[in-house]
Amino acid sequence: MTAEQGGVEVARLEAAVGVAGASLLALKDKAGEHSSILEAHLMMMQDPLLLEGARRHILQDKKCAEWALRSAVHEIRASFDALGDAYFRERRSDIDFVGDRILSAMLNADGNEASLLDDAPEDAVVVSHDLSPADVIALSRKRVRGIVTEVGGSTSHTAILARALDLPAVVGCAGILERAGSGDAVIVDGGAGEVVLSPTPALVARYKGLAQRRAQVFEELQRESKLPSQSLDGRTVALLANIEIPEEIPSALVAGAEGVGLYRSEFLFINRSELPNAADHETVCGAILDGLGDLPATLRTFDIGSDKLAAAVRLPREHNPALGLRACRLGLARPTMFRAQLRGMLRAIFARQRGSILLPMIGSVEELMAVRELIDGEIETLEKNGVPRWAGLRIGVMIELPAAVWIADELAARCDFFSVGTNDLIQYALGIDRGNEQVAHLYQPLHPAVLRALKATIDAAHRHKIPVSLCGESAADPGLLPAILGLGFDSLSMPSSAIARVRYVLRRLRYDDTQRLVAACLACARARDVEALVNDALEGAVPDLAMLREAAHE
Ligand code: PEP
Ligand code: MG
Repeated sequence: MTAEQGGVEVARLEAAVGVAGASLLALKDKAGEHSSILEAHLMMMQDPLLLEGARRHILQDKKCAEWALRSAVHEIRASFDALGDAYFRERRSDIDFVGDRILSAMLNADGNEASLLDDAPEDAVVVSHDLSPADVIALSRKRVRGIVTEVGGSTSHTAILARALDLPAVVGCAGILERAGSGDAVIVDGGAGEVVLSPTPALVARYKGLAQRRAQVFEELQRESKLPSQSLDGRTVALLANIEIPEEIPSALVAGAEGVGLYRSEFLFINRSELPNAADHETVCGAILDGLGDLPATLRTFDIGSDKLAAAVRLPREHNPALGLRACRLGLARPTMFRAQLRGMLRAIFARQRGSILLPMIGSVEELMAVRELIDGEIETLEKNGVPRWAGLRIGVMIELPAAVWIADELAARCDFFSVGTNDLIQYALGIDRGNEQVAHLYQPLHPAVLRALKATIDAAHRHKIPVSLCGESAADPGLLPAILGLGFDSLSMPSSAIARVRYVLRRLRYDDTQRLVAACLACARARDVEALVNDALEGAVPDLAMLREAAHE
């Protein structure tokens, strides 16, 4: 690095500190009770230890500004660690936060839309190493045509959100950044998980034909969208929609949803600089309940943490965030933020006397009871303020942790319904990161361990006479439906785009056959043996399976 380049890097560093400082100052003015934390961050940002350290790394060690900043942050962290004092150990996450803000400013990617995403034209396909759920929302608002990432799994929140927003996406496409160039023509087949770079005219024509055929199949399936969601021998399984924002409700109803089985309320926290307050929660939950009329709605409290990060919720840096402060654990650690949401939800529900509350990532009876106490406290406060309680309120527990399966009886005795989140249950039961494409092949919904966990959960729920729903992505896969139906779920909740095909298959299966099938599957030792049994059952029951598989590639 020449002296001139060093000067450029120092200037970049100083400009970024200026931008990050100004944005922190603006945040501090709005932060109210939290402003002292931001004040401390501002002071850290201007600390000579950080800036001089970074400058030294640029000028002496010839590092670029980003690397120099990183090195200086690491040095300060190490010095905090060496002090051995709990207070200073706590400060490590503060210095990380400050470093991240300067880095974001440097990369002009400050977690908002006024960043690199601004350059994406309307008809662009965005190819990136990784994208956060917040990026997906921003890109969908910009009406880009598709996204491709090098990392990620199909049940990651980034992928789920892209599906919900009808944004064609292929995740986990290794090496794509090396091969794709800016301005290249590209086909993104989200359903098949295929990306074609610089396609020939013949390939373009083929994919256009495929898209047309899928649209036809979709219309054919849609013809049954108002018919009962019932097996051939009369077992009714309600088909519900998973939604992330209230705007999804009209299309969910057109798709044949019989209600909302999962509202992922955390998306209200994403892409905003301030925490939503009780009134914001009440407005959004009210809009969902109103949009559904008399149909049921299950409102889940926020599942922030792990891969769903919100700028307004400052989380400590965690080495293993999927096993960290997430969902109800985070809510119990930050009761003010949690109570605001509970108050807003309860107000919306009580005013309409409809809707239930679902609690994510419950791992113990203590956790469930602690959340129930918070809910009871909010109900009492509302009553004191003249809002009468509604006795019909139902509180459900998500079964997402193996621990919850093992204590399903104890949880069932203390709640009104279960909803099984297989995206996480499979991740935690099999030890497979749902967002890691390297182990995506090991993410097996029909693994005997998963099947037995589901059976134990459903049996416990039914022993306690409470209903049990399935709201993970497994509910959307018609290929799994014979097993899911036979296990005895009472309802299935899935992205709206999957409802028509699941109804179609459900109406061609016999419940009694699938119960026998499940008994045979539960005795299998290997996932591939279960898969073969389930596939045979499906082929026997649904003659036009090929058409359906095409439709799955929407
Ligand atoms: C699940 O884990 O299956 C689930 C529905 O929750 P989420 O995908 O939001 O983690
Ligand atoms: Mg989950």
